[in-house]
Amino acid sequence: MPTTVITGGTGGIGVATALALLEASPDRAIALVDLAAPAVPAQLGAYGPRVALFGCDVTDEWSVAAAAAEVRAAMPPVDSLVNGAGVVHNDASIDIPIERFRAMLAVHVDGTLLWSQQVARHLDGPGAIVNIGSIAGQFGHPRRIAYAAAKAAVHSLTKTMAVEWADRGIRVNAVTPGYIETPMMKEVSRLGLVDAGVAAGWAAMKRLGTPEEVAGAIRFLLGGEASFVTGHILNVDGGFAVLKAE
Ligand code: NDP
Repeated sequence: MPTTVITGGTGGIGVATALALLEASPDRAIALVDLAAPAVPAQLGAYGPRVALFGCDVTDEWSVAAAAAEVRAAMPPVDSLVNGAGVVHNDASIDIPIERFRAMLAVHVDGTLLWSQQVARHLDGPGAIVNIGSIAGQFGHPRRIAYAAAKAAVHSLTKTMAVEWADRGIRVNAVTPGYIETPMMKEVSRLGLVDAGVAAGWAAMKRLGTPEEVAGAIRFLLGGEASFVTGHILNVDGGFAVLKAE
């Protein structure tokens, strides 16, 4: 039985990804990695010991190393990783405090690198990694200076890890979601950063995406059907990027 590690595993896209992987493969286990979640989310409770939760701050290399060691001790061998831990906030370039900028990069960029290193170093055979980027990393986004920079860096890490680790049998890809209905999106709406109705209009398909739609793309990129796909950045955005590029 192989294990997939999902950071941000108790978030909206994390839970949907866990469900998609568990339903697709009866012999897969899932290690959810999260900052503060108290327990495995109820939607995953039916899978019993195939799902376990590990507390970890992805910005802290010692926390990541300790959690990765716990996963290796408690779970079947890890063959795949989804880097999904994320935060979003609203700051203008002119006055964002540097600590706040660095904190954003730490979650997305350091977190992605640290967990990818842990998994790649201990893989015994072929493996696959999917990083969760964002369409925000592809365009200029007012008041998203830190988030957009962090996500652009995640896309870049994806490409470099893909070329460096191809000879180790590790494929590395990214998904770039558009606006997806998750707790993060609700928080962004609550803060007045984005109006959900307006955001839906930015997609060619004129709606928000669902966590399940992102999860389906992640499952594809992790699985055997994508065995010749690496270094790819897959937009899961209802046509946001192509509309924006018109
Ligand atoms: P959620 O807020 O639902 O989930 C984010 C998860 O990341 C939470 O479980 C949170 O844990 C965890 N997390 C945050 N900081 C840390 C940390 N330092 N260490 C460990 N875990 C941490 O968001 P989504 O499911 O929407 O987002 C998942 C990914 O998708 C993110 O990378 C996000 O940027 C990206 N994305 C989302 C989009 C959207 O519209 N929703 C669009 C484009 C990209 P806790 O709850 O314990 O703090």
